[in-house]
Amino acid sequence: MQRNVSFCAQVPSIQDHTTTLVQVYERIIKSKARGGPKSLQRLPAPWRITFDTNPDDCNFACVMCEEHSGFSTKQAQRKEAKQRRRRMDIALIEQTVKECAPEGTREIVSTLMA
Ligand code: SF4
Repeated sequence: MQRNVSFCAQVPSIQDHTTTLVQVYERIIKSKARGGPKSLQRLPAPWRITFDTNPDDCNFACVMCEEHSGFSTKQAQRKEAKQRRRRMDIALIEQTVKECAPEGTREIVSTLMA
């Protein structure tokens, strides 16, 4: 069976990707040596906040997942240690949004972990 490779063709080779990343780091290092990039400005609040709300709750088992993959022992270890499921308190989220939104936060993302 032949697979559709059009999506994969857009992914750079690991060599090209690594070369590009090295160039980015070299530019940053050179810029820091000159006193830091002038285009960067310190914001009063993060532009985006990702809340990892409940990493122990998921119905999937994605192979790459460090928590729920069939190759991961983390959830079994948590259960064996009788650790409670991690669930972020909604009051913490509300307080964070209340403080950051007026200061410029533009995106709020809720995620399990992935
Ligand atoms: S938490 Fe995300 S990555 Fe992990 S199994 Fe669930 S959907 Fe997949």
